[in-house]
Amino acid sequence: MQHFTKAEIRQIKDYYDDLLKIIEPKFSKDRLELIDKAFNFANIAHDGVKRKSGEPYIIHPIAVAIIVTNDLGLGTTSVLSTILHDVVEDTEYSIEDIKNMFGAKVAEIVDGLTKLSGDFDSRQASTLKKMLMTLSDDVRVILIKIADRLHNMRTLESMPAHKQLKIAGETLYLYAPLAHRLGLYAIKNELEDLSLKYKHPEEYNQISYRLHDQEKKRNYLVEEFIKPIKERLEKENIDSTISSRLKSKFSIWEKMQKKGVSYDEIYDLLAIRIVIKAKPGISEKRQCFDILSLVTDIYTPKPDRIRDWITTPKANGYESLHVTVMGPQGKWVEIQIRSERMEQIAEYGFAAHYKYKGINSQEGELEKWLERIREALQNPDSDAFEFLDEFKLNLFASEIIVFSPKGKMFNLPKNSTVIDFAYEIHTDLGNKCIGAKVNQKLVPVSCVLHSGDQVEILTSENQEPKLEWLKFITTAKARTKIKNAFKLEKSKHIEKGKEIVEVALKKVNVTPSSNTLKKITAHFNLANKDQLYSHAGMGLIEIDDLSEILKKKSENRLVKYWKLTFSRKKKERDDNEGSSNIDKKKPFLLKENKNQTSYSLAKCCNPIPGDDVIGYISSKDHIIIHKKECPKAEIFLTSHGERIVTAEWTNFKRLAYLTKITLNGFDRVGIVNEVTNIISKLHNINMRSVKFDTHDGIFEGELYIYVHNARDLQNLIQQLEKIKGIDKISREET
Ligand code: MN
Repeated sequence: MQHFTKAEIRQIKDYYDDLLKIIEPKFSKDRLELIDKAFNFANIAHDGVKRKSGEPYIIHPIAVAIIVTNDLGLGTTSVLSTILHDVVEDTEYSIEDIKNMFGAKVAEIVDGLTKLSGDFDSRQASTLKKMLMTLSDDVRVILIKIADRLHNMRTLESMPAHKQLKIAGETLYLYAPLAHRLGLYAIKNELEDLSLKYKHPEEYNQISYRLHDQEKKRNYLVEEFIKPIKERLEKENIDSTISSRLKSKFSIWEKMQKKGVSYDEIYDLLAIRIVIKAKPGISEKRQCFDILSLVTDIYTPKPDRIRDWITTPKANGYESLHVTVMGPQGKWVEIQIRSERMEQIAEYGFAAHYKYKGINSQEGELEKWLERIREALQNPDSDAFEFLDEFKLNLFASEIIVFSPKGKMFNLPKNSTVIDFAYEIHTDLGNKCIGAKVNQKLVPVSCVLHSGDQVEILTSENQEPKLEWLKFITTAKARTKIKNAFKLEKSKHIEKGKEIVEVALKKVNVTPSSNTLKKITAHFNLANKDQLYSHAGMGLIEIDDLSEILKKKSENRLVKYWKLTFSRKKKERDDNEGSSNIDKKKPFLLKENKNQTSYSLAKCCNPIPGDDVIGYISSKDHIIIHKKECPKAEIFLTSHGERIVTAEWTNFKRLAYLTKITLNGFDRVGIVNEVTNIISKLHNINMRSVKFDTHDGIFEGELYIYVHNARDLQNLIQQLEKIKGIDKISREET
């Protein structure tokens, strides 16, 4: 093996001394000895190995360790793991060796980091998925991995061009969003800027040049702008520092891309930051708002541009008070007001929490975030690409804050709906959700929530998850839960249908052989046994009397062939008429039903006289009446159009005068039944028509009824009001 030169050995020592300078005041003596042991071990393990830049390899883990302790504020376990992070990957030592020398925890983190290393292609989504699964085990693995990536990006110069592009792409795709989500703003900005440098060098150089070019002018303007603020702060004896923050190169570039504007058109290049040393005894929030008041005495604030992230911090822990004011040059300037503690969190995110509270006190929000990752990962359905898209969506999505009726706060991704919120609280609440009251107003399940909304989820025992919910939900949690419920639901229908068929067969004393099932399946024009069961289970077909169906002899093949070949004419007629005894050209008349055909009223939509209805030929001489707007009728119209007949009611009584009642409330199974039941029990009232419209679980009903007098009507309304789910009843004369 080739050993290092004296100069190289000195270089290694210099780096290690830099690390020691930072950690010596922070860590205890035994821990420092352990770190020394790790360094010596890693140094020997990597002996003679060089990076692409020509530097000894060991410099890399030491440089990462400096980031880990200095910028992220992590403790000795992390520093140890970082120093050792490439040993297992690149040398002949194993995880077992690490475990024996440095303990199980360090070995576990090194193992996590080893699994993530290597050359993964950002197109290999499944590798990324695997990586993210490891990431959620111990958050320190993520943090060290981000530090590792930051150092690799800082030293990307020495890599070949194609590797530069690939690594920069990965960084932008995954590491920068991860850093952002963890609140590591400074690192996120640096990762993005470095990625831009390698991905779009020309644009990067142009932006750098312009920023540099205008530096003097900008500094002058900043001085002018903050001068009156500074004076006021001094006069008020407020201990604070004012600095200006330049928009990152990547953010400038991104804005130019997204909005199609030139560099000169970007007006918010600068933000002013006021960081106060909070006085003890007064809340930091109060003190920040005092500064806000002071600033807006000097500069006019832009209406609606005060952002209070102190009262409700962002999910990644960010706290700050933002206000946009009109500067003396006629340009809007953003001012960020925060305490020193908030500043730490803003720069180093959750790592700052570690700094303040130690590694054992897991920040609640971070736990929630990790929980969300774990949930997304548990979704067995999503293929790796879908998963990544969803995951990234969750990473990037800005957050809204909503409140429970008791005032408990919940963070949700933007565009979350009532259903997302319901599932966020509890699976059962989601499954049974029929709508909500948002700020006291009744809204459907699909309603998009906004920050500050107070949401009371309303449920019904009869509610079941709906596939259509998938169209408007946002969170991975809700998606998984609905899909799971639906799988269960489908198998329930099949089970129920199987039971229905078996009971019907028992009635006619037939065993459910595959032959009999085939006969029934064929009779209903269905494809297979499972479809028969699920149709029966969902009530799409009615299986009462099977004797007629089973009596029919199945034709032997020769007869079938003959029929197919020689009776084309008959076949055509059959096709047109659905081979039923029902004349489809004439409307099917209800009540005055002259032919032998029997009919029943569909249980799903409960049509009543006066409704617009259609008939569905369920078997040769039986018709099921559905309301025209019944969802099932809509399915039939599109998939079994040949079985549909028009149907009309022939008569219903006319009484004294016609009144219209409108009902509002939550849809639940059986509610229409209850309404019509109540009306039919009242002798003095007759219905002309009932129309129920349902949108996302909210129904609006219109009853046209004939009543004798107002007392009867009052009586009716009182009874209707007692129905669960009815929210509002109003009447109008017609
Ligand atoms: Mn590394």
